[in-house]
Amino acid sequence: MDHHFDGKVCKIQAAVLRKKGGPLKIEAIEMEGPRDDEVLVRLVASGICRTDIDFCDDWDEADGAVVLGHEGAGVIERIGKNVKSVKSGDHVVLSYQSCGHCRQCRSGRPAHCKRFYEANFGFQRLDGSNGLQRSGVRGHFFGQSSFATHSLATERNLVKVSKDLPLELLAPLGCGLQTGAGTVINSLKVSHRASIAVFGTGAVGLAAVMAARLIGADPIIGVDIKPKRLKLALKLGATRVIDNRRQDVAGRIIDITGRGVDYVVETTGNPKMHQLAIAVLNPHGVVALLTGERGTDSLPEGRKTLGIIQGDAVPQHFIPKLIELYQAGKFPFDRLVKFYEFIDINRAIADAKNGDTIKPVLLISKA
Ligand SMILES: [Zn+2]
Ligand SMILES: [Zn+2]
Repeated sequence: MDHHFDGKVCKIQAAVLRKKGGPLKIEAIEMEGPRDDEVLVRLVASGICRTDIDFCDDWDEADGAVVLGHEGAGVIERIGKNVKSVKSGDHVVLSYQSCGHCRQCRSGRPAHCKRFYEANFGFQRLDGSNGLQRSGVRGHFFGQSSFATHSLATERNLVKVSKDLPLELLAPLGCGLQTGAGTVINSLKVSHRASIAVFGTGAVGLAAVMAARLIGADPIIGVDIKPKRLKLALKLGATRVIDNRRQDVAGRIIDITGRGVDYVVETTGNPKMHQLAIAVLNPHGVVALLTGERGTDSLPEGRKTLGIIQGDAVPQHFIPKLIELYQAGKFPFDRLVKFYEFIDINRAIADAKNGDTIKPVLLISKA
């Protein structure tokens, strides 16, 4: 028996958000044990994603205290009695949650789950219950709330990985990297020699750049306002970069391509960049919006914009593929990662916000 778990209640530590904008405070709280379809995961690491930061900054205190975090990786400590695909001691990467029952889920498109919003942003299970209730806190963010020592997840949002791999490095595959790479590979199906521009070279944008290089897109144009990130984009596969603070992006794209680009991956969420993306698009070109905006079909000459969720990736297929590519040296996402101790979570968030760190990963326990 684990010392922190008596069969019903698990004593955990979690970074709790109680105030708009933070700081997050690491507190001792209590979590239910896993239900029949759940697993209890001891977290080894968690990435910090832009969505965590946005939630923190936009949080309404009237909504109570919550635990964020949705790029967890850890070791399974206990499983519910209906769990079949994993066992205690297995290493897992956590990803987004889906319902498993709607038409989209049943047809293998969980990123389009009808209940995607509630399952990931509802801060409760889909039946309305909440495993952190006894401490007056809400969890289940993306079916995990991974800014904690332990988490409840289900078979639908975990991916079993080899014990030979460093779990702490794999954590960010579950959201940001899957989204960026999945957009290029699954959603846009970018082809060899197609031209692509990536607006915003943070973790998601750089994952898109690496995926574009893998496919053989050319040119691959990285656009950002941080010279340091643009430099890294060049190392990871961008063939050209444009500093949006000093250069005219539209003019430069025309110079480079002679007309426009076939694809734009827009990660910045800035309405001006959205407009610019459409302006530099070739006929029949596509803008992928990774910013929560919906797409529209009403653009001239077959151009379109698509609102994309999680790069249309099925985590159990796509994450192992990204790991294989990483091992073959073709998806070197380790170059984006900087590790922080769990107690330094607020510093990690601050570093991500000011652009000093591309992908912060919290070290929570030893594998
Ligand atoms: Zn569903
Ligand atoms: Zn995310």
